Amino acid sequence: MDLVALLTRNTEGEIMVVVMAPGATPADVEVVVQRVTAVGGQAFVSRGLSRTIVGLVGDVADFEALNLGSLSGVLQVIRVSAPYKLVSREHHRDRSVIRVGGVPIGPGTLTVIAGPCAVESPEQTLAAARMARSAGASMLRGGAFKPRTSPYSYQGLGEAGLRILADVRAETGLAVVTEVIDPGSVDMVASYADMLQIGARNMQNFALLQAVGSAGRPVLLKRGFSATIEEWLSAAEYIAQRGNLDIVLCERGIRTFETATRNTLDISAVPVAQRLSHLPVIVDPSHSGGRRDLVAPLSRAAIAAGADGLLIDVHPQPKTALCDGDQALHDADIAELAGIVAGMSPVMGRTLALSSGERGQVPATV
Ligand code: PEP
Ligand code: MN
Repeated sequence: MDLVALLTRNTEGEIMVVVMAPGATPADVEVVVQRVTAVGGQAFVSRGLSRTIVGLVGDVADFEALNLGSLSGVLQVIRVSAPYKLVSREHHRDRSVIRVGGVPIGPGTLTVIAGPCAVESPEQTLAAARMARSAGASMLRGGAFKPRTSPYSYQGLGEAGLRILADVRAETGLAVVTEVIDPGSVDMVASYADMLQIGARNMQNFALLQAVGSAGRPVLLKRGFSATIEEWLSAAEYIAQRGNLDIVLCERGIRTFETATRNTLDISAVPVAQRLSHLPVIVDPSHSGGRRDLVAPLSRAAIAAGADGLLIDVHPQPKTALCDGDQALHDADIAELAGIVAGMSPVMGRTLALSSGERGQVPATV
């Protein structure tokens, strides 16, 4: 089945997308929105780096009658029957590069994001950030709000943890990715973070997806452990529909019958998602295997499969870590990972992404 056939196979209902010309003005976009709302439809404007797209929800027959293609600034009007469209590759052939605090994620580069599963203290976070950088990372990931399966497990430091991350960014120049777990705290978390993470457990928290779609920050969207690729891309569509196309997909292992590993890394998800969507796809080998000894081999597999980056847990004292210590790299593992990413990037035609600090700038935010 070719790509278009695959995307249009789903007959959940047709949708229309208006692609604006590169030179379209805000007034041109406004005219499209007004015409659509005048016939009872909804128009969602997504301003991407290179062009503006307006997704229409409502009666496609009514929209056809509007002859939107003849309006000033309209490049193309497309009918799509896939459940996701703004994130699909059907009409956005080139794969996207997303920039976070100046760090590129996408084709051409390999971007390593690393850090402690949970922010525990200023010292632990700074030490983990230094380990991350030594491992080849250009971004720091640490959780201040932890979505734990058990309510008795460590829940994170909350806003105090975000302040620690901001301090460590100032010290190291590493852009910060951190998880947000409820719609009400999105703006607060976004005021500290360079990128917002949506965790596996929240992949279908639609109110949260819509909130991060309006937050003005790039989003790292982890795949739910029981989610199909179509469900994952549809979740990304919720974010895109609110005007945010700066989304990076993260495969973090799915739940299967196998119990020898924490999850099963679905390595095929990397090329499949990249064929179906223009968004970058990275892999989290730490949560996939759930074991330190599997991180290096799964990282090699991810890079070889074409992943645009890796998300890695590191910790200065894994034995006493408050969260996910078993899968955190430390000591000699750091140099091993650095060797893998430096050695394999050129083989895959990629360069290892550098942090803003290494390029002599401070990340843009806060
Ligand atoms: C995490 O990244 O620490 C995390 C909670 O991961 P996931 O949502 O993939 O389980
Ligand atoms: Mn974790």
